[in-house]
Amino acid sequence: MRVAILGDIHANLPALEAVLADARDYGCTEFHCLGDVVGYNANPSECLEIVRNLPGACVLGNHDEAASHGNPLEGFSSAAALSLEWTRGVLSAEQKAWLGALRPQRQIRKTTLVHATLDSPCSWGYVRTFREAELSLACQRTPLCFIGHTHVPKVFAHGVGEMLLFEEAEGVDLSKSPKLLINAGSVGQPRDGDWRAAYMIHDEGSDGLWMRRVKYDVESASRAVLDAGLPPKLAERLHKGV
Ligand code: ZN
Repeated sequence: MRVAILGDIHANLPALEAVLADARDYGCTEFHCLGDVVGYNANPSECLEIVRNLPGACVLGNHDEAASHGNPLEGFSSAAALSLEWTRGVLSAEQKAWLGALRPQRQIRKTTLVHATLDSPCSWGYVRTFREAELSLACQRTPLCFIGHTHVPKVFAHGVGEMLLFEEAEGVDLSKSPKLLINAGSVGQPRDGDWRAAYMIHDEGSDGLWMRRVKYDVESASRAVLDAGLPPKLAERLHKGV
């Protein structure tokens, strides 16, 4: 069975639709989401409805948590906070209840899903370095754990270090790997300088893993941000992948 791992969709409907089409072309039948379904971009309601109807699991992200209640938006950038205020006004009470009820961590077969870190899932810390990755890996009870939150795809191998990110065509043979902590990148707001939507495919039968980058209608996504009255820099960054 092939599973698609989708991180940080962030209300980017054109990116989500392109990724789902690509994943289905590659035979994916299960779709796991790493949280932050909403925030930043202009289609939170549409993305939420798609995600909750997909076969698979979804964990809670910090933007999902913030959008689901009315508490002060501490710790968010001004653009993120403006977008979250707008998102709170767009989502229905029932949609907010669904978001707020997402669990911070899930285990599906031999895979763990968490948005930020495994050592403290609801503190919303970042895994950017191998030292930070080892804190999560020490808590990891499955061969694979997928994370999001930084919007930068990375692979960390327990006791080894950061692995060079593999080419799409080659993939990683997981049967020979130590425990891996994998950032699947971001569907809706990549920040590694590549504007294309990022996600990963895990083939549970052959134990292979691939990163995918998918072109999508970035013009339409950025126009929707501007049309919604959201900060223009949220539209601009989509073109740059930052
Ligand atoms: Zn995010």
